[in-house]
Amino acid sequence: ARKAALGPLVGAVDQGTSSTRFLVFNSRTAELLSHHQVEIKQEFPREGWVEQDPKEILQSVYECIEKTCEKLRELNIDISNIKAIGVSNQRETTVVWDKLTGEPLYNAVVWLDLRTQSTVENLSKRIPGNNFVKSKTGLPLSTYFSAVKLRWILDNVRKVQKAVEENRALFGTIDSWLIWSLTGGAKGGVHCTDVTNASRTMLFNIHSLEWDKELCDFFEIPMAILPSVRSSSEIYGLMKAGALEGVPISGCLGDQSAALVGQMCFQDGQAKNTYGTGCFLLCNTGHKCVFSEHGLLTTVAYKLGRDKPVYYALEGSVAIAGAVIRWLRDNLGIISTSEEIEKLAKEVGTSYGCYFVPAFSGLYAPYWEPSARGIICGLTQFTNKCHIAFAALEAVCFQTREILDAMNRDCGIPLSHLQVDGGMTSNKILMQLQADILYIPVVKPSMPETTALGAAMAAGAAEGVGVWSLDPEDLSAVTMERFEPQINAEESEIRYSTWKKAVMKSMGWATT
Ligand code: ADP
Repeated sequence: ARKAALGPLVGAVDQGTSSTRFLVFNSRTAELLSHHQVEIKQEFPREGWVEQDPKEILQSVYECIEKTCEKLRELNIDISNIKAIGVSNQRETTVVWDKLTGEPLYNAVVWLDLRTQSTVENLSKRIPGNNFVKSKTGLPLSTYFSAVKLRWILDNVRKVQKAVEENRALFGTIDSWLIWSLTGGAKGGVHCTDVTNASRTMLFNIHSLEWDKELCDFFEIPMAILPSVRSSSEIYGLMKAGALEGVPISGCLGDQSAALVGQMCFQDGQAKNTYGTGCFLLCNTGHKCVFSEHGLLTTVAYKLGRDKPVYYALEGSVAIAGAVIRWLRDNLGIISTSEEIEKLAKEVGTSYGCYFVPAFSGLYAPYWEPSARGIICGLTQFTNKCHIAFAALEAVCFQTREILDAMNRDCGIPLSHLQVDGGMTSNKILMQLQADILYIPVVKPSMPETTALGAAMAAGAAEGVGVWSLDPEDLSAVTMERFEPQINAEESEIRYSTWKKAVMKSMGWATT
C-alpha cells in the first residue's frame, strides 16, 4: 500500500565535518524515508592542525548509500525509484588528488585548520589593495578558506608539487572529490564543483561567477588543477558503482547553502542558523551582493539551474559550536555522548558566572581574530562540570547573538524570529537558551535534516530529472517547534555583556 503512495525518490549525501549521512526522501511529500549515518574521524597531528582522510570520507559515503538501500529494501521500497542524488558537503576543506591513480596526495586540510596563519600574514603583506580579495570574493583573507590551504599544500608537499609538474594533480573541495570519485574517478570521473562551494575557495569571482585569474596569480595557484564550475542543480554525471549505479548526481550545494534551500529561505531577508560542528547564520539577499560593515561574509547562496539566476547571502560564521561538545566528550571525558550535555546542564540550570569562549580555531565572525584561543573564566571552588557544560551551551548562543546583531545592523530590518536546524538543535536546553539570549522566538522544523533536504531538492529539480518542484507552497505542511524567550531582556543583556568581556580576554593568546 505504501508503494502506491510513493512519488519518485531522491537521495542526498550530507558529508559534514562530524559525520557522513545518506538520506532518501519522497519527492512528493519531502518525507524522509530512510537514512544511515557514520561518524568521521578528525586528526589533530599538531596544535592547530585539523585533517581528515579523503578515502575514509569516500568510503563512508559508499557505506551510507549501501546501508540506506538495505533499509529501504527491508521497508519494501524499491530502490529503482531513486531518480537522482544530491550532494551537500562541509565547505572549504581542501583535497588534492592524482587523476591517474585516483589516490589523494595528502590528507584533506579541514576548514578549521590553522596551519596557514603565517601564510596569511605573508600574503597580507603583499596584497595589492585592502579590498582586493573581499571585493572579488566577499571574503576576508583568512585561514578559513581553501586558497591558502592549497597554497600551503603546494609549498610543503613534495608529492603534490611533482604531480602538478606532471599534470596529474586535481584540486577540489569535498563536493568535487566525491563527485569525481562517484562518477568514475580515474576512469572518467567528472571534475566539477558548484557556485556555492566555489565561492568559499577565495579564488572565485562572485560577480562574474568564474575563477578569477588575478586571484589565482596572487595565490600562485595553477588554474589547470581547478574543477569546472557548474550551477547547483544540473546533471553532473552518473553513479558508476554500488547499489545506485546509473543514477544521476544532479544537485550540489555547500552545506550552509543546502540548509538555506531546505528551510525554503528563497525570499530576500529570510534567514536560517545551522548548529553543527560550527554555527552558520545565512540571510538571503536576493540577486544583490551585499557587503557587510560588521564582519559578515558575502557568499553565493545558490543557483538552481544553468539558466537560473544566482542568489547571494550574507553569512555569519562561527568556527566552534558542536565541536565544543565533542571536545568535552573526547578531550575532557566529562560526557560520553553529545546528548549527555543536556542532562549535565539541566542539573544546574545556570553556568553560575562561568564563561567559556571556545576560540579553539581563533575567532571567526564578527571578529576574524586568528590570535584568539579558548578560555574558561569566572571559575570558583563551587564550579563543577555541570556549570562548564552549561557555559559551553551558552557560548554557542552568545556567538549566535553576536552574528545576529551584526546581521541586523547590516540589513537594517531586525529578524523577528530565527529559523534553526543542525545536529545540536535536538538539544532543548540549547534552543530555550538561544531564545532567551536573542530575545526573539527560535523556530525549528520537525524534520531536522534540512541540509540533506536542500541537496535533494536541488537534485530532484534539475533539468532532465524534474521530479521536484521548488514551489515554497510544497512544504507549507512542515510542522515547527517554537521556543519563546522566557527570561527578561535586562537579564539577557547582563549575561551578554559579561560574555563580551570574556571574549576580549580570549584575544591575543597565540602569536606566530
Ligand atoms: P556537521 O554537519 O558539522 O557534521 P551535525 O549537524 O551533524 O554537524 O552536528 C553534529 C555536532 O552537534 C557535533 O559536534 C555534536 O557534538 C553536536 N551535538 C549532537 N547532538 C547534540 C546534543 N544533543 N547537544 C549538544 N550538541 C550536540
